[in-house]
Amino acid sequence: MPKNKKAFITGITGQDGSYLTEYLLSLGYEIGGFLRSSSTGHLGNVAHLKDEIRFFRGSLDDEGSIEQAIATFEPDEIYNLGAEAAPFDSFKRPVYTSDINALGPLRMFEAANRLRKRGKKEVKIYKASTSEMFGAPPEVPQTEKTPMLPNNPYGVAKLFAHYQARILREGSEKLPIWCGILFNHESPRRGMQYVTRKVTVAVACIRNKVKNPPLNELGMPIITKDFKLELGNLDPKRDWGYAKEYVEVMHQMLQTDNPDDYIIATGETHSIRELVEVAFAHVGLNWQDHVIQHEGLLRPLETGPLCGNAAKAKEVLGWEAKVKFEELIKLMVDADLAKFS
Ligand code: NAP
Repeated sequence: MPKNKKAFITGITGQDGSYLTEYLLSLGYEIGGFLRSSSTGHLGNVAHLKDEIRFFRGSLDDEGSIEQAIATFEPDEIYNLGAEAAPFDSFKRPVYTSDINALGPLRMFEAANRLRKRGKKEVKIYKASTSEMFGAPPEVPQTEKTPMLPNNPYGVAKLFAHYQARILREGSEKLPIWCGILFNHESPRRGMQYVTRKVTVAVACIRNKVKNPPLNELGMPIITKDFKLELGNLDPKRDWGYAKEYVEVMHQMLQTDNPDDYIIATGETHSIRELVEVAFAHVGLNWQDHVIQHEGLLRPLETGPLCGNAAKAKEVLGWEAKVKFEELIKLMVDADLAKFS
C-alpha cells in the first residue's frame, strides 16, 4: 500500500485551513498543523478534527518553532495559510502584520529548503497571496500580469512574500512554490471581522431579535439596541467566491509539475451595498432600515474594484468557481439564522 502523503498547514484553525484539512483528509493525507502558542490552545474551526491532526505549537514569527515542526513532520506539501488576515486591522498593526505576512512565509520557505538540502524530501509549497496586492488596479478584471500597488499594510506584506517566492522559485534554488492570488472567499466559517460575515451575522441577529449579539472588530455589539448594523464605506467592490471550493484548487496547483502563480476568482464584482441588499432581502427586510455608517470603520485608503480573471486556472488546472455571489450570501445567511436564534 502506498504511504500517505503528508501536508503541513499553518493557519489550520482558520476558515481556509479547516476546509483544506477536511479535503486533504478525505484524500488520505496525514495532516500536521500549527497551533499558536497561546495559553488557550484555541482550535478554532478544526475542533471537530482534533484527533486527526498532529499539532505543533508554533507561530510564524518564531523561526525555531517553524524549523522544529518542519524537521520533525517532514511534510511532502506545505500550505502556508497563517496570516494576520484582516486588511482593516493591518492599518492598526503594520509592523506586526509585516512580521507575520512578509517574513513569516520567508521563514517557512527557508525551513522547507533546509529540509530539502538535508536530502530528506522534495517539499512542495503553497503560498497564500491575495487580490489585496492589487490596491487600486489599473485594469478590470485583473490577471496574473496586472501591476500590483497595494493600498494597505496587509497587501504590502503579502506582496513582499509573493516576490520572495518568485525569487526562490526562479533563481538557482528552484524551490517549488505555487502562489495562489485568491480573491475574497467566504463561508459560514469566515471570521466576524470581515464584512460578509458581519453582515450575515447581523441579518440573522436582527431577524431573530437576538438579545446578546456577538461583538464586532471595535469590541461593540455587532448590532445596536435598536437593530442597526454599523458599516464603513458601502461603495468598494469585491469578487466574492466560496471558500470550500477555493481550497481544492490550492491542492490542485501542487499536483502540477510547474510552480507558478494563479488568479483564483469568480470573475464577478459586487459592491458592499449589493451585499447588504441581498442579505437583508433574503429574510424579507429592507437594508436601508437597518444599515448606518460608522466613521471608525472607514479604511484610511480604499482598495478596488477587485475582479479576477481566472482564465489561466481554468485552462491549466481545469478549475472554475461554481458558487457565485447571491448563492454564497444566501447560504451564509441561512447558516447564521440557524446559529444565532
Ligand atoms: P483566517 O480565517 O483569518 O485564518 C487565519 C489563520 O492564521 C488562523 O488559523 C490564525 O490562527 C493563523 N495565524 C494568525 N497569526 C498567526 C501566526 N503568527 N502564526 C501562525 N498562524 C497564525 O483566514 P483565511 O480566510 O482562512 O485565510 C487563509 C489565508 O489566505 C491567509 O493567509 C489570508 O491572508 C489568505 N487569503 C484569504 C482570502 C480570503 O478572502 N479569505 C483572500 C486572499 C488570501 P489563530 O486561530 O490562532 O488566530
